[in-house]
Amino acid sequence: MNNKKFDPAMAINAVAEISAERGVNPNINDSATFTFPKGQLMTDTFHGEAEGFFLYSRHWNPSNMALCKALAAMEGTEAAWATGSGMAAITCALMQCLKTGDHIVASMTVYGGTFAFLKNYIINYGVEVSFVDTTNLEDVRKACKKNTKVIYTETMSNPLLRIANVSELRKIADEFGARLIVDNTFTPMIFSPYRLGAHVVVYSMTKYVNGKNDCVAGAICADADFINALIDVNNGTAMLLGPVLDSFRSTSILKNLYDLHIRMKKHSENAMYLAERFKALGIKVNYPGMPEHIDHELMVKEYNEQFGFGGMIAIDLGTAEKANAFMEKMQEKGVGYLAVSLGFFRTLFSCSGKSTSSEVPQEYQDKMGMSEGLVRYSVGLDNDMSMTFEKIEEALKELKFI
Ligand code: PLP
Repeated sequence: MNNKKFDPAMAINAVAEISAERGVNPNINDSATFTFPKGQLMTDTFHGEAEGFFLYSRHWNPSNMALCKALAAMEGTEAAWATGSGMAAITCALMQCLKTGDHIVASMTVYGGTFAFLKNYIINYGVEVSFVDTTNLEDVRKACKKNTKVIYTETMSNPLLRIANVSELRKIADEFGARLIVDNTFTPMIFSPYRLGAHVVVYSMTKYVNGKNDCVAGAICADADFINALIDVNNGTAMLLGPVLDSFRSTSILKNLYDLHIRMKKHSENAMYLAERFKALGIKVNYPGMPEHIDHELMVKEYNEQFGFGGMIAIDLGTAEKANAFMEKMQEKGVGYLAVSLGFFRTLFSCSGKSTSSEVPQEYQDKMGMSEGLVRYSVGLDNDMSMTFEKIEEALKELKFI
């Protein structure tokens, strides 16, 4: 598909709704259940045969529907469904595609929680998992088998910021009749994975999509058939496991979605600035916006250029001790917060090997080239990044790292 002509931000505007009373934002839904004027309508709604009626909030409610319409528009999918966390989106999407005896090929660099789910949990249900470097397409193809039902990857990996070749991965998925599920948490709007070939796109909306660090939430975007199957009252994973997002949160996340494009551009601008400054100081820096990054060219080919290369960068200080001392110093100076997570308006930093990727065994961390001194930044929306960098430089000097 031609990704270049697609504007996810304008797509969200195109589906904006006003409330029944002509409020400029949709009303907050405050009902767990809904009434029907006729008994038959309730029966038809139960069987998915009546349009415009709501049954029960765990299935659908008006607030979640308004948010999901916007999310689907952003992704270019027919439908979407909002969950109470990113992990709920990931686990429901996966379990909807897998049953006992199936096999999944997953990236070995996935988010630690996803890694733990695949390595320690889903195997209890008789699903076999192969972890591979999904940036190596030959390795992915070799790992696929007759019973491979899912290829799972993140568009931009954590913390080394490798880029998945979604269109090529889709070709491999098609060869084996598997579904390609892509976690786009790090790069909303920057990548449009569904348009590049993913069958299902999942999000932790806790991060950039909401951007305020005031809640945990997730989303699954896909064809209407997939979403309807997911919430089927008889056998849909999401309907039966029940991780629906609360409608109050849906309404607040929807409002934050309308300025996501501006935030992504500023996050990217600030991250690029920081990456260039670190490089000038001779510090090892990982940022896909730098021409020397291993996946820079691939990213340029596949991304939605106007949103930049994203707000995540990683620098390598060699040892965990140095990383910790540096992060403490930066926090003291007000650069941002020593905290996990990402996509916040303030800068967050953490030592990946000891935090967000700590579920990933040392053997895999070594394989993916993750140093214990890696400091991952989720670069904030600082109006003047040069002022922030002065504090970073001071921290480095005081610690005699430069
Ligand atoms: N996917 C990625 C890439 C993440 O970084 C995270 C959380 O850090 C998740 C999924 C899980 O999301 P949540 O914490 O909203 O469950």
